[in-house]
Amino acid sequence: MARPTSWQVLGTELVVVWDDGHESYYPLEALRRACPCAGCSGEPDLFGRMAYGPEQRYVASSFQLVNITPIGNYALQPNWADGHTYGIWTFDRLRANCPCEECRPS
Ligand SMILES: [Zn+2]
Ligand SMILES: [Zn+2]
Repeated sequence: MARPTSWQVLGTELVVVWDDGHESYYPLEALRRACPCAGCSGEPDLFGRMAYGPEQRYVASSFQLVNITPIGNYALQPNWADGHTYGIWTFDRLRANCPCEECRPS
């Protein structure tokens, strides 16, 4: 499994460098819209119910990153400027969402 060795916001993108040398450029807006938390993605909660949160209302700060917190050695947790910090991106999930042509042949 590839792991991020560094990450930084450049303009409107999050740049992640992986330990296998790959670089991923995630548009911040797309990253936020793909937030994997239960409230955003509608995944079932512990009791099997679909946990739809309140309808997402995005504002300008929804697509700005304050920082990213590493979770253990398996995930990154973006801290969005509108206070949304619930999305935990496992390394696998983050890498699977790499938007580059190499990772997503059209
Ligand atoms: Zn979310
Ligand atoms: Zn890629």
